[in-house]
Amino acid sequence: MATENNSYNMKEVQKQFTKILEKFKHTNLMSAFPIIDSEHIEKLETILKLDKTDYDSEPVECCIHCKSLYLVTDNDDNDECVTCRNSLNETETHASIFHYLNKYPDRK
Ligand SMILES: [Zn+2]
Repeated sequence: MATENNSYNMKEVQKQFTKILEKFKHTNLMSAFPIIDSEHIEKLETILKLDKTDYDSEPVECCIHCKSLYLVTDNDDNDECVTCRNSLNETETHASIFHYLNKYPDRK
């Protein structure tokens, strides 16, 4: 089974962006004039402040047939499994990614 896009850790991404932001601010502070566009820094700061979602505790949905998390929602709000193309609105919900991985340990 191919690796799906859901495998990246949003907490880690957020942490790395925060580090980059701090580095940008430090660079500007240490120079005679702002090297990095302060407008970009402000935008990045706003995004990081707004996105406080704890992705690790968000519920996840998977296909009941192949257990894939790779689902797409069409214009009529139907959930379709991209992996097996075998299901339409046949999904099961897990309280978090950890519940899912606990139930299907081979899905890592
Ligand atoms: Zn499926």
